Amino acid sequence: MTRTDLSRDGRGTPRRTVLISGASVAGPALAYWLNRYGFAVTVVEKAGALRGGGYPIDVRGTALDVVRKMGILPQLRDAHIDLRRLTFLAEDGTEVASVHPHTVTGGVAARDLEVRRGDLTGALYTAVRDDVEFLFNDSVDTLDQSGHGVDVTFRGGGSRTFDLVIGADGLHSRTREFLFGPEEQFHRYLGYCFAGFTLRNTFGLSHELMMWNAPGRAAALYAVGDNDDVHGFLNFALPQPPFDAFRNPEAQRELVASTFADAGWEVPGMLAALRDADDLFFDGVSQIRMPRWSGGRVALVGDAAYAPSFLTGQGSSLALVGAYMLAGSLAGRDHTSGFAAYEHTTREFVNLNQELVGEGDAALFPTTARALAQRNDMLRNLSAMPSAEGRPAHSALTLPDFMPMA
Ligand SMILES: Cc1cc2nc3c(=O)[nH]c(=O)nc-3n(C[C@H](O)[C@H](O)[C@H](O)COP(=O)(O)OP(=O)(O)OC[C@H]3O[C@@H](n4cnc5c(N)ncnc54)[C@H](O)[C@@H]3O)c2cc1C
Repeated sequence: MTRTDLSRDGRGTPRRTVLISGASVAGPALAYWLNRYGFAVTVVEKAGALRGGGYPIDVRGTALDVVRKMGILPQLRDAHIDLRRLTFLAEDGTEVASVHPHTVTGGVAARDLEVRRGDLTGALYTAVRDDVEFLFNDSVDTLDQSGHGVDVTFRGGGSRTFDLVIGADGLHSRTREFLFGPEEQFHRYLGYCFAGFTLRNTFGLSHELMMWNAPGRAAALYAVGDNDDVHGFLNFALPQPPFDAFRNPEAQRELVASTFADAGWEVPGMLAALRDADDLFFDGVSQIRMPRWSGGRVALVGDAAYAPSFLTGQGSSLALVGAYMLAGSLAGRDHTSGFAAYEHTTREFVNLNQELVGEGDAALFPTTARALAQRNDMLRNLSAMPSAEGRPAHSALTLPDFMPMA
């Protein structure tokens, strides 16, 4: 489909134009729904292509309704990782407990999904790529809202005007910075840092996760299949965010290596793999909390607006639900009332999910010997505990049906 085709609806009427920055989870999901509601959508992504593979992510609760409505649930069911066992180890490497994953993640067996991040983004992209314009290897350089629309210049050259711009560009969103200023104001550091990377599966692990804990430190090996590489995670408590390390991979490697220098189990081998890893992902564990998600004709969705942190396991689900709610709120409304409706209908769901975790209190990563001993006791007794009652945070929203499709 050419740009001319995209810019008019079936009756030849000009469609409202929207630029979405970011093509991961929130971006393509939003593009899908906005296209269905009659918008002409362009997505700009700074990476050269959609990233495949990746760490496992959960799609749960209300987010399952979103992917079902998009018609991609069967594909995602086929891609389900089906993690079978979660084994916790003490500091000396002995086993504390081995449990079914849903007992500790809050997921619902046979319903909730865990897929490789690339399988989710691939399914979302495939659902929308024929109807939406994608600009890879480019990004927004400037945004100007002083005219009748949003004037955008692109890093790769060229400028265009859109009716709306949406930032779906993740935790460190540049769109948010354009709109509201530096990230520090909205960044809620949760007291941990983590490094993620892949390493060869020399451990004989299959569809399982093993996690070693010492107070304030955790090392995990996550085998999503039988022969694939394993995902390694090194997570540790650190009272202040290490700003110097965030942009310096060498400093990140040194910080992780010194933090885990005396650790046992498989950690020495993990540190050796970390030194050579070409896919090291290091960040602080944090949330984004904002009083407003929009300004003028620009709004935010997904991690850019309300990252809940990977400790909640809810980032992708919030991104999917947020995209559905934002698009539906704009359907048949002007942007001012559409953005207001988006906040009104979605904020409580976001809050519930963000409140699942507080600073330094992640159940999986106790920071003191006492808290770790309590956590281990709890794990040993898990099978004897009654299941939680009530509606979990990730299912606490029933999706409204928005206006009929264009
Ligand atoms: C190790 C780890 C484990 C996780 N585990 C889980 C889990 O189990 N369950 C779960 O639900 N969530 C999990 N998450 C979180 C989940 O990955 C995110 O919450 C989710 O991907 C958010 O989607 P998003 O589309 O809002 O942002 P992102 O996935 O961060 O995507 C942002 C996109 O914007 C692009 N971009 C960035 N800047 C620009 C720019 N200036 N211009 C153009 N494009 C740009 C990026 O390249 C990227 O494609 C985990 C995260 C990590 C790091």
